[in-house]
Amino acid sequence: MKILVIEDEVKAAAYIRQGLAESGHAVDVAHNGTDGLHAAATGDHDLVILDVQLPGIDGFAVLSALRTSKQVPVLMLTARGKTDDKVRGFDLGADDYLVKPFQFPELLARVRALLKRGQPAHADPVVRVADLELDAVRHRATRGGQRIDLTAKEFALLTLLSQRSGEVLSRTQIASLVWDIHFDSDSNVVEVAVRRLRSKIDDPFPEKLIHTVRGVGYVLERRDE
Ligand code: CA
Repeated sequence: MKILVIEDEVKAAAYIRQGLAESGHAVDVAHNGTDGLHAAATGDHDLVILDVQLPGIDGFAVLSALRTSKQVPVLMLTARGKTDDKVRGFDLGADDYLVKPFQFPELLARVRALLKRGQPAHADPVVRVADLELDAVRHRATRGGQRIDLTAKEFALLTLLSQRSGEVLSRTQIASLVWDIHFDSDSNVVEVAVRRLRSKIDDPFPEKLIHTVRGVGYVLERRDE
């Protein structure tokens, strides 16, 4: 299993990393909230261990930003005596918490429980971004519970954008991943497909999910006003 540890204290992070590595996990470490959020949002981790007290953007801000795009299990590390932190963490979507300082076996037990719990969810064929839901098995897309009819290519395009929500995909990437063809740079097939897709999943709704990144490509994500 792949685990991301977001902890600014170098010694503590190294201690956690070593213990998890010895238990057979692949471990990435980020030493501040910004790097941690980026790693969590763009990586394919099975679990995130997130310290609340971080310089810059703290653990709560990281969690709340992460939850707009990802449902990866999050174990929060909170300081002793801060019961408010636990409540706040759970409200923001943390899956569990551990009070510092802790013994490593305690951490490992929580990690095991979360990874076990996370497995069926991992196999969940439904991708969700905001009120958009994509069921890959039933080949069904809904927004706000409203069924949306899509062609096979539109569904493939939407699946790609949703699964990689928050990541900007270039037209070339989209063309090769959805159409499996490397289009000439002057081809507008991606633009046309994105426009059609927008007319179905974005135009009828106040909150737009597909965004154009000028000169780069497209990103599907929730953007809070
Ligand atoms: Ca810390």
